[in-house]
Amino acid sequence: MNASKPKIVVLGAGYAGMMTTKRLCQQLQPEEADIVLINKHNYHYQTTWLHEVAAGTINHNLARIMISDVINPNRVRLIYDSVVKVNKEEQLVELENGEVSYDYLVFSLGFETNTFGIKGMDEHAFFINDIDTCREIDSHIEYQFAKYRNEENANDDSLAILVGGGGFTGIELLGELVEKVPKLCKKYDIDRNKVRIINVEAAPTILPGFDKDLVAYAKDSLQSRGVEFMENAKIQECTEDGFIVGDDHEEIKAGTVVWTGGVKGSSVLGESGFELTKGKVTVNEDLRAPGEENIFILGDCAWVMNKEEGRPYPPTAQAAMQHADTCANNIRALLHDEPLKAFKFSDKGTVASLGVTDGMGTVLSGTKLYGKPAATMKKVVDNRYLFLLGGPKLVLRKGKFRPF
Ligand code: FAD
Ligand code: NAD
Repeated sequence: MNASKPKIVVLGAGYAGMMTTKRLCQQLQPEEADIVLINKHNYHYQTTWLHEVAAGTINHNLARIMISDVINPNRVRLIYDSVVKVNKEEQLVELENGEVSYDYLVFSLGFETNTFGIKGMDEHAFFINDIDTCREIDSHIEYQFAKYRNEENANDDSLAILVGGGGFTGIELLGELVEKVPKLCKKYDIDRNKVRIINVEAAPTILPGFDKDLVAYAKDSLQSRGVEFMENAKIQECTEDGFIVGDDHEEIKAGTVVWTGGVKGSSVLGESGFELTKGKVTVNEDLRAPGEENIFILGDCAWVMNKEEGRPYPPTAQAAMQHADTCANNIRALLHDEPLKAFKFSDKGTVASLGVTDGMGTVLSGTKLYGKPAATMKKVVDNRYLFLLGGPKLVLRKGKFRPF
């Protein structure tokens, strides 16, 4: 590292952090700036595939990519450590095992599960947070099946799987569970009818606010494969036996309880003294934190306002990658004393998988897709990201080409 060169430090190697680093390497000459990427692990993971890791329908290694395979360590200094806090006054990032100074900071540490203070949720539920929490879910479900097989007078409730929250994460997880459970039943010689898969959603319908036809399709598809839906059913508490639901405090028992009821930005934002709205920073149009000349906040840590609708864009990988483009461009502009650009979201649509061969969603101008075309589109989107990150080699190594 050269003391005379400006130092750009990127926190988090998720969609926003990886793509920002990639774009900075493309847009800046090595003599213009030093680039540092800091991440908890030496791998990047596909957050959008975590529901598959959780259900065990893909091997967790497929969802991981070694950072040094796609980011040149001779060009970018890679630090594998946990960020504890950003000290804005001193322009220092405090890590679990050291500290790093910065001239420009890109804060892209992603999301954490939000339990909204629901009693017992932190203690008793599993979360879809990262590779490790998802591997735990996969192992726990299989353990419940193995235990049931080996116990005399085993309780059928121990086989039940409860998913709390019917947003996209919950629905995509259910799509994988309906594929996995029959396989586990076969493996452990258990009657499929004994295994309940239940989704509990507080709103009047799953996927609140999404297109009604597509929601109805998703619900029918999952119900036909054995998912029970409880809508208008707010989870009040999580116990070691399951959920307490609704005003009449109905108890729903299960051996596996997964909470997919919402997300917030990294808690490091709060530790670092940023002003938060519902756990994230509402950024300026150029994606900088309010009042900060040299700090950009991206991905699931940022609220980016959709001025036309008067509310923020939803936190998605699609948006995080677009933030990265604007951020890299704006850092280059700062280094060259040029005007910064405002972020413009280009909506490519929303597609959700409902298992390997089914899905639903909208593409581009709102065209609706159902079934195999939607499932195929989801794989195309996944593979496109791999292509952007690591070119055709990465698509061939990690891409999704599973036949129907
Ligand atoms: P992340 O992808 O969360 O990456 C953050 C990175 O920071 C990680 O590498 C993490 O290890 C690292 N990190 C975190 N804390 C620290 C720390 N303290 N120190 C060091 N490193 C740290 N969006 C879509 O557009 N399409 C989809 O199909 C889609 N599917 C999804 C499916 C699931 C199951 C889930 C959970 C989300 C899905 N999303 C989807 C949303 C999307 O994944 C997120 O919006 C996206 O991951 C946000 O990207 P990010 O770069 O902000 O953060
Ligand atoms: P979310 O906030 O979108 O959904 C959470 C759901 O939990 C909501 O339907 C909410 O009503 C419900 N809920 C909250 N509290 C509850 C309670 N006490 N009892 C019962 N239900 C409760 O969260 P998510 O699904 O994790 O999605 C997070 C972000 O990631 C969103 O922006 C989403 O669009 C995105 N995402 C996108 C995809 C995709 O495009 N395929 C897939 C997954 C996630």
